[in-house]
Amino acid sequence: MTARILDGNALAQRLRADFKTRAEALAARGTRPGLAVILVGEDPASQVYVRNKVNACAQAGFHSAKISYPPDVEPRVVFDKLAELNADPAIHGILVQLPLPKHFDSDAVLKAIAPAKDVDGFHAENIGALMQGHPRFIPCTPYGVMQFFADAGIDPRGKEAVILGRSNIVGKPMAMLLLQASATVTICHSQTRDLAFHTRRADILVAALGKARFVTADMVKPGAVVIDVGINRLPDGKLCGDVDFAGVSEVASAITPVPGGVGPMTITMLLANTLEAAEREVR
Ligand code: NDP
Repeated sequence: MTARILDGNALAQRLRADFKTRAEALAARGTRPGLAVILVGEDPASQVYVRNKVNACAQAGFHSAKISYPPDVEPRVVFDKLAELNADPAIHGILVQLPLPKHFDSDAVLKAIAPAKDVDGFHAENIGALMQGHPRFIPCTPYGVMQFFADAGIDPRGKEAVILGRSNIVGKPMAMLLLQASATVTICHSQTRDLAFHTRRADILVAALGKARFVTADMVKPGAVVIDVGINRLPDGKLCGDVDFAGVSEVASAITPVPGGVGPMTITMLLANTLEAAEREVR
């Protein structure tokens, strides 16, 4: 079997065209969706992510504000800025690029974002709403994964879904969404015994562990849908996922590539959340 490639660039492009139209409709009513991104420090990867987010906003016709601070900034300065942005009517979404420097309490920073503007969906109130089954904002990466299923006509109902990784930003919300879509969900992590036993049962396998080419063909059930969230940099500088794409695409029925799979969908769903926040406001 050669797997169908789930093309994140193509899907992202289609969704973003729709967002642009919706943003224009809002603008015609006097509201331009606005996203504020706070970056603390000089981490090169974070700088690239923030630049990509700001560019994506511009292409979709959104307003964006990038606020950068040096790595040794006083946390109080960032909290004051968050309070200002929470009250700013031109800003519908606020995002603090993680990770923050060690002298910051990240949980306290995320809590300081108004839940109605928390477009990353990391505020405890929004995580709680997701758990209860009526999410206000869905964390962008798992939200993007669900778009692949919807677009490709893959219904998780009744399927065995296995997730590798239990982080707050990917693994746990992914599990919640698949559960709400009526899959039977297993979450694996570094302490899981006999990981391959679980992965071989999976009709839907989501790899989010951050280990290059960890999932090999012998760990995958023939015909499974394999979603590769991982982004790993190889010694030669190239990017690869957590899945051995060449081998697994001979076994799976559908697979996301890296790059060009989940990555472009994450920023796309950030736009979706910002747009939804702006639309809610004018409703
Ligand atoms: P974390 O490091 O926060 O979490 C990794 C998870 O994988 C942990 O739960 C850990 O278990 C588990 N894990 C690590 N090693 C193993 C192992 N050998 N066997 C089983 N489980 C293991 O990572 P994130 O969730 O933030 O990110 C995961 C990957 O996804 C990374 O490569 C990241 O770059 C990528 N990513 C991609 C995005 C995109 O847009 N495509 C967005 C966000 C992340 P334990 O909890 O026990 O330590």
